[in-house]
Amino acid sequence: MTTLLTTQDIARIIAAYGLPEVLLRLETAITADFLRWQEFDKTARVASHSAHGVIELMPIADASHYAFKYVNGHPGNTRAGLPTVMAFGVLADVATGNPQWLSELTLTTAMRTAATSVMAARALARPSPRTMALIGNGAQSEFQALAFHHLLGVRHIRAYDVDAAATDKLQRHLRGVPGLTFTAHASTAEAVRGSDIVTTVTADKRNATILTAEMIEPGMHLNAVGGDCPGKTELQPAVLASAQVFVEFEPQSRIEGDVQQMPADFAVTELWRVLAGQARGRRDAQAVTVFDSVGFALEDYAALRLMAQLARGLGLGRVVDLIPTLVDPKDLFAQIAPKKAHALAA
Ligand code: NAD
Repeated sequence: MTTLLTTQDIARIIAAYGLPEVLLRLETAITADFLRWQEFDKTARVASHSAHGVIELMPIADASHYAFKYVNGHPGNTRAGLPTVMAFGVLADVATGNPQWLSELTLTTAMRTAATSVMAARALARPSPRTMALIGNGAQSEFQALAFHHLLGVRHIRAYDVDAAATDKLQRHLRGVPGLTFTAHASTAEAVRGSDIVTTVTADKRNATILTAEMIEPGMHLNAVGGDCPGKTELQPAVLASAQVFVEFEPQSRIEGDVQQMPADFAVTELWRVLAGQARGRRDAQAVTVFDSVGFALEDYAALRLMAQLARGLGLGRVVDLIPTLVDPKDLFAQIAPKKAHALAA
């Protein structure tokens, strides 16, 4: 039996619990699973590149559940009326292989990415960050802004996008959020100035240079979300060279993250080790920390399990006929020619 969760189901979960609560539960779930790091069968995602973008499969499993996500990244899509990032995934029972849940993951990816960003910043940024620069004001941006506001106490967003309409849209969605103020800026350099946290979440299929060394101030935490593919980066190498750099799953991040620009022996720390108290996080208040986010399958595993649990509690989801229900599990043929098969037998 497979239960389908549509985008509307996920929107209903958010309406029932409120976005801050869902983001908090996601952060809690992802943190708990990062602390179980050794229990997972992990692999770098499988990517299929084209001139326009990338399509990726992201599998992961522990002893009880197997999950995968299908996700694309096509920076030119918005011009054709499609989102840059679209995703869906499956949560299966390891004991039988039965795909229990088939879920949308486009909205869920935006939420899990924001929750993961907060998890990293909670561990790495200076205490009580108040101001965040948000460079790239597209589909992910509201989720990032609201996660940092509700979960970490950020009170002011300094936004910049090459597309002023995207910044207007972000401002419109954030207007009226109590305790959160917003300013739009004329450049990345202007938006970054004086910020505690800088989130880059741009989409461009090239080695873009969104942040350069002279923009970076002592003590900043950089949440670099948009550089997530070979040949698609956001940070000037000099920014990484003078920072402490933290990644999700090192074998994947070396290929896809901003650190792809650095020599193979450039030091990075897997974030789970900081969360588990096995590695040092921020060295001191003056250090610059970078979370070189690319998105790891474990975050989707945690998100799928949480969404399934919340959906079950609200009675959401629709059973779909994805796998045949067989009277005799060895008689698959009965599905396509039951009458004929019976007639032949008579
Ligand atoms: P989107 O296309 O909706 O928005 C991207 C925005 O970046 C656009 O508004 C665009 O105008 C802006 N932009 C492009 N170049 C810029 C520049 N030089 N300066 C300022 N703004 C610029 O895409 P999205 O869904 O918001 O995704 C943003 C990025 O995040 C993508 O690259 C995507 O692959 C990545 N992403 C990463 C993760 C992760 O886990 N790390 C998860 C989801 C998405």
